[in-house]
Amino acid sequence: MQDFDPVDNMVRQRREFGEHGGVNMSIEASTTFTVMQAEKMPDIFQGRAGPDQGGCYLYGRHFNPTVYALGHQLAAMEGAEAGYCAASGLGAISAVAMQLCAAGDHAVVSDTIYGGSFALFNEFLPRRMGLQVDFVDTTDLAQVEAACRRGTRMLYVESMANPTLQVADIPALAEIAHRHGAQLVVDNTFTPLMLAPIAHGADIVVHSLTKFINGASDIVAGAICGSTAFVSSLMDLHDGALMLLGPTMDPHQASQISLRLPHLALRMTEHSRRAALFAQRLRDCGAAVGYPGLTDHPGHATLTRLGRPEFGYGGLFTIDMGSTEAAFALLDNLQNTEHFGYMAVSLGYFDTLMSCSAASTSSELSAEAMLAAGITPGLVRMSVGITGTPEQRWEQLARAYNKVSTG
Ligand SMILES: *Cc1c(COP(=O)(O)O)cnc(C)c1O
Repeated sequence: MQDFDPVDNMVRQRREFGEHGGVNMSIEASTTFTVMQAEKMPDIFQGRAGPDQGGCYLYGRHFNPTVYALGHQLAAMEGAEAGYCAASGLGAISAVAMQLCAAGDHAVVSDTIYGGSFALFNEFLPRRMGLQVDFVDTTDLAQVEAACRRGTRMLYVESMANPTLQVADIPALAEIAHRHGAQLVVDNTFTPLMLAPIAHGADIVVHSLTKFINGASDIVAGAICGSTAFVSSLMDLHDGALMLLGPTMDPHQASQISLRLPHLALRMTEHSRRAALFAQRLRDCGAAVGYPGLTDHPGHATLTRLGRPEFGYGGLFTIDMGSTEAAFALLDNLQNTEHFGYMAVSLGYFDTLMSCSAASTSSELSAEAMLAAGITPGLVRMSVGITGTPEQRWEQLARAYNKVSTG
């Protein structure tokens, strides 16, 4: 585990050449694949001759070669046996949840997660398939332990949670999950390369590729990494959530995303470097900053223990402005006066994206659930961009913060 190098793994996995020897892999645009002998057809449909058995591809909603190649790269990054992609992060998450849990099963889910995932586990899956869900503070291991019971199939957490940036103690959570016969699923969207959950005991990693991994806010996509058996089960013709629900990634998108992986390490390093710089300086100005790189952040020690130090503590930080009004004033000033960044949801873009979580991406949560998750009305989340010079950006940020906090 000490030698596990996600960057090197990912680069080595880039083994597909283009059809004509191109340095980049070709895009396999076909949705159907020629079978060379008629008698091979039944084998393919019985799952005895897929791409991993040296046989033929089947159909575009099943494995596609270009999407599969991206899946291999991401699996290598995560140190997983296998990986495949989906049309969105939520497509990946819902497929994993439905593959692991049958009607009436039980899941333990972190109370601090992305709003869409929260709605999926709090409303959609309980209503549609009778999934029983307990939300707990997964930084309190006693709560996790107490919530696990017979029929618990899945423990679900975010490596670094949206928007409070709390950090999951993956080895401890894996130990609890496994002791209860459950699988630990980690959403690693906020910390690609920074943290490799499978190396710390997680069973399955999901990503919204829409964020840092793609990095340009122009593609919605997701991924699932885990054991070969699990990834194959997702594509089963009779019982596979990816095959039958059909959140299929377009091969053109897979090619685009694959071409951005080689600079993911550079980008993550720079997002982290700037977020750390701004968080520390804002703290020095007296701001209520939350950043896992600051030693007083509750996730600092865990991320120091589990993370890869060269990628820092992540590209996001929060400022609690004390009220919705002050938060809005800061956002308005930063976008419309200083041109520091954009008021927009999402994260991992090359420019700064800023939002007031309570009024946007966490609005699926009730007031009570927001309180439990530590989401205050004035909490501003910043996904720090990598454009401009750090000093020029800091001047913009400092001017806006000082104006709003003293005004
Ligand atoms: C955005 C996000 C998702 C959902 O991903 P989509 O690609 O928008 O479907 C899931 N988890 C986290 C942590 C996210 O930030």
